[in-house]
Amino acid sequence: MITENIQRIKTTLKPGVRLVAVSKYHPVEALQEAYEAGQRIFGENHVQELVAKEAVMPKDVEWHFIGHLQTNKVKYIASFISLIHSVDSMKLLKEINKQAEKCGRTIDVLLQIHVAKEETKFGFTPEEVQQMLAEGEWKACSHVRIVGLMAMATNTDDQAQISGEFETVRKLHDILKERFFSGESSFCELSMGMSGDYTIAQEHGSTLVRVGNKIFGERIYH
Ligand SMILES: *Cc1c(COP(=O)(O)O)cnc(C)c1O
Repeated sequence: MITENIQRIKTTLKPGVRLVAVSKYHPVEALQEAYEAGQRIFGENHVQELVAKEAVMPKDVEWHFIGHLQTNKVKYIASFISLIHSVDSMKLLKEINKQAEKCGRTIDVLLQIHVAKEETKFGFTPEEVQQMLAEGEWKACSHVRIVGLMAMATNTDDQAQISGEFETVRKLHDILKERFFSGESSFCELSMGMSGDYTIAQEHGSTLVRVGNKIFGERIYH
């Protein structure tokens, strides 16, 4: 099933859009099946689970962290993480920088933007992210590279609302690119879209879609 799901989803992706297989809560066997189907990018949102899976999966997997990341846990993933989607504070950015330096690496990150109509979603508001970047402290973090933005839309059936939220993030990306990253071709990523809304997200410039259920089936939480 997993193999068929990945193949089917890939046929629906626009050119250049990369698929992040969100494998949280699923056992290693499920990840291995996806790997054998050619999948290389996996997204996880718990540090302990990620570390355990990284230890046993092939070394050419590209691991993405997609959930809220506590500063005291960055050290466990700094040596191998490819992209952290969920930077939501300057404090976290500085800690990633510190741990990346210790590992002799530069870690790519996305700034998470809060646009959904839900209290519980983490991230900077569009105003906060502009203020944070204008303050300029991030420029001293030479071991992190900010490569774009990540956002989650409101969990709703209202397609117009979802579209509007993704479009807000796309426009914000353009503004930030012009104001703060104009010389940097690496600031080009938009992580938007999950199982239920990735087709909409693609219409608004998404470059990374984070798909869980549609690949692996329902998650069983324990
Ligand atoms: C769980 C999760 C996903 C995947 O959600 P599905 O609905 O299973 O596709 C995507 N992004 C984030 C941040 C998540 O936590």
